[in-house]
Amino acid sequence: HQERLVHSERLAGIGRLAAGVAHEINNPLGVILGYVRLLQRKAEGALADDLRIIEEETLRCRDIVEGLLDLSRPLQVPGETLALRELVEEVISRLRESIQLSDVSLTVEGDAQVAGHPQRLRQVVTNLVKNAVEAARPSGQVKVAIHAREGEVALSVSDTGSGLTPEAHERLFEPFFTTKPQGTGLGLAVSQAIAQAHGGHIQPRNLPGRGAEFTLHLPRSTP
Ligand code: ADP
Ligand code: MG
Repeated sequence: HQERLVHSERLAGIGRLAAGVAHEINNPLGVILGYVRLLQRKAEGALADDLRIIEEETLRCRDIVEGLLDLSRPLQVPGETLALRELVEEVISRLRESIQLSDVSLTVEGDAQVAGHPQRLRQVVTNLVKNAVEAARPSGQVKVAIHAREGEVALSVSDTGSGLTPEAHERLFEPFFTTKPQGTGLGLAVSQAIAQAHGGHIQPRNLPGRGAEFTLHLPRSTP
C-alpha cells in the first residue's frame, strides 16, 4: 500500500515553541512516572495516597504533552483497510476498564470499512466516546452508529447529555478549550487534525430533543 504523507499547517497553529517544549518535557515526565510507581510499591497509608496524587497529576501532564505532540507531528496515513465496528468495540472495552461509566449504556450499530491509520482512528473514537460518556453521565445513553454511504463512511457518536452551549459549539476544536475541571481541551483538536489527515472531518451538532452528536466523516476505502 502506498503511504500518503500529510503535511499540515497544524504546526503553525500550535507553534514550534510549544511543540519543542512538549518534546523536551516528555522524557523527564516518563522518569518521574517511573520513580513514582517504584515508590508506590513500597509505600503504605497516607504516603501511598500522596503518591497516587503525584501519579494522577503526572499522567495529566503527560496527556497534555502527548496532545501537543500529536498536534505538531505530521501524520502518515497508511492505506490499511479497517473494519470500523471492530475498532469501536475494542475502544469501548478498553474504556470500560479505565473510565467510570456509571450507569451510562453504550450501544454500537452498523459497520463499514475504511482506509486509515488504526491507532489514530482508535484515538479519535476514544475521544468522541469519552466526551459522550462524560456528557451523558451519570445515567444516560451513548450510541455509536456506523453508516456506509456513497463515497464516504460516517461514524456518529450521540449522547443524552445536555448538548453543546453556543460557546462550546464555536470553540470545540480550539486547542485547550475545555469546560471540564480536569479537561485538557485537546481531545477534539487532535481528533479533528487526525480526521483531516485522512481526508475527512468531524461535524458536531445538537440533537433535537437533548444531547449532542459528533459525526466523523471519512472517505470510503478504495479496493
Ligand atoms: P476535554 O474533554 O478535555 O474538555 P475536548 O477537546 O474533548 O476536551 O472537548 C472540548 C469541550 O467540548 C469540552 O470541554 C465540552 O465543553 C465540549 N464537548 C465535547 N463533547 C461534548 C459532548 N458530547 N456534549 C457536550 N459538550 C461537549
Ligand atoms: Mg475530551
